[in-house]
Amino acid sequence: LEPLLRQLGPALYELDPRFRSDMRVPARIVADEVLLRQMFRDRSLLQLVNVTTLPGIQGFAIGMPDMHEGYGFPVGGVAGTLLPDGVISPGGIGFDINCGVRLLSTGLLHEDVKEAVPALAHDLARSIPTGFGRHGRWVLSPEQLERVLAEGVPYVVHGLGLGAGEDLSYIEAGGHLAGADVAQVSVRARERGSDQLGTLGGGNHFIEMQRVERIYDAGAAEALGLFEGQLTILIHTGSRGLGHQVCTDWVREMDRALAREGLRLVDRQLACAPFSSAEGQGYYAAMCAAANFAWANRQVLTHRVREVFSRRLGPRPEAWPHVVYDVAHNIAKLETYGGRRLCVHRKGATRAFGPGHPELPEAYQPVGQPVFIPGSMGTASFVMVGRSESQAVSFSSACHGAGRQLSRAAAKQQVAGAELRKALSAQGISVECPSNAELAEEAPTAYKDVDRVVDTVDTAGIAGKVARLVPLAVLKG
Ligand code: 5GP
Ligand code: MN
Ligand code: MN
Repeated sequence: LEPLLRQLGPALYELDPRFRSDMRVPARIVADEVLLRQMFRDRSLLQLVNVTTLPGIQGFAIGMPDMHEGYGFPVGGVAGTLLPDGVISPGGIGFDINCGVRLLSTGLLHEDVKEAVPALAHDLARSIPTGFGRHGRWVLSPEQLERVLAEGVPYVVHGLGLGAGEDLSYIEAGGHLAGADVAQVSVRARERGSDQLGTLGGGNHFIEMQRVERIYDAGAAEALGLFEGQLTILIHTGSRGLGHQVCTDWVREMDRALAREGLRLVDRQLACAPFSSAEGQGYYAAMCAAANFAWANRQVLTHRVREVFSRRLGPRPEAWPHVVYDVAHNIAKLETYGGRRLCVHRKGATRAFGPGHPELPEAYQPVGQPVFIPGSMGTASFVMVGRSESQAVSFSSACHGAGRQLSRAAAKQQVAGAELRKALSAQGISVECPSNAELAEEAPTAYKDVDRVVDTVDTAGIAGKVARLVPLAVLKG
C-alpha cells in the first residue's frame, strides 16, 4: 500500500487509483497519522475504495477524519457523481435519511440556572418519547403527514403552529427540499412515520444541554450568538422509521434494476441507479420527502424544548432557545463544482460552505456556514464554521462527529452501563436514559478523540474552530 498512499497536505492523504483496477478516481482521506491508522482497523478504507468504482463519480471519493464502517459507503464518506446519468446510491446517504444536528442557544449563563438543569433534563425526558421502536402519542392524519413530507418545516411552523418564522432562515435549505414527491414514499414508510414526528429515536440520538466552555473565534461566535458560559442545547435525530423504510424500499428497487442498467457492483450494499433513471428519480424524490420529515422532526423537538424551558424558567426572553443552525449529515444534494452539476452524497458528513455562499443566512455570510461536531455524552462537542477552501478539498464538506472507534457490541463488552452512569454523574452530567445496555454502547470510549478530529478538520482547511461545548445533561434513546 505504502507507495500508493501518499500525503497531499498536512492532513490530507490520497490512495492512487492504481491500487485497484476498478477504481475510477483516487480515494482521499482527511486525517492525521493516528486517525489514519485507526481507519485500518475496520473496513472503512476498503469501503471508500469501493465508492470510487461508482459510475459517474467525479474527482475523488473522500473520507472525513471520523470515518468508520457503514452500510456500503463508510460513515464519514463523501462522493459526487455527474448529473444527469451518474448514479445515486441510498447507501451513500444512509438509513437515517437527513439525520442531522440542530444547535439552540439561550441568553442564559449556565451559572445562573445551574440548579434547574437536572429538572429541565427530567422534564425533557417526560415530554419527548425516546427509544428505537418508540412511537409518540401524537398521530398525524394522512393529510398532515403528506404535508410534512411535501413541505417540511414551513408547514410545521405555519400549518401546525410549532415554532417561529425566524427559525426557517436558520435551517439548511429552509427545512424544505422542493424535490419531494410523496407518491414515492411507500404506504409502509408512511405508517412507520405517522406517529413518530417529535420522537428522538434510540442509541446515538440525543438532546444534550451544554455549556460553552471556550470561544476560539470571537468574531464568528458573535455572529452566531455564542458566548462563554452560555447554556446551549444540541438536538441530534433524523427521519426515524420513515427514512429507514424509504432506504430499505429503494435499495430493493435499485437492486432489481441493476441488471437492466448493466451495472455490476463490487458490493451489493452499493445498490444504485443512474440519477436520470426511474429508480434514481424515484429514490431522490422519496429521499427529499424523508429529509423534510427529519427537519420537521427536529423542529417539533425544538418546540418541546421551548415548552419545557418556558414552563421551568418562565417566559422570559433569555430563556427562549433560538435556532443557531440545523445541518443535515445524511443526505444527497445537487451542487455545482467547476461548472458541473453533481449529486453530492454526504453520509456522516455535513456541508461546510465558506463565507459568502448564497445558501447561507445573511447573518452568517461574513463568517461561513456553522458546522456542528458532537463528540460524546462525556466529552466535548464543537461549533466550527466552513471555509472557502472546503470547496476544492472536500466538495464543501466536513466531518459530522468524533466517529465510532468501537462497535456497539465491543462497547457493551468493555463498558458497564451502571458504572458509566455513576462516572458521568460524578462529572456533573445528568443522564436520562432508561437502559444501561444502551448507555454502554454510547460510552465516550466508544468514540474517537473529538479534539483530534476537529483539529484535523481545521488543519485540512475545511472549517475553523469557533467554540467548545461541554455536556451538562443528556437525554438518550
Ligand atoms: P451518528 O450520526 O454517526 O450516529 O453520530 C454522530 C456523532 O455524534 C458520533 O460520531 C459521536 O461522535 C457523537 N455522539 C454520539 N452520542 C453523543 C452524545 O450523547 N452527545 C454528544 N455530544 N455527541 C454524541
Ligand atoms: Mn446522525
Ligand atoms: Mn441518525
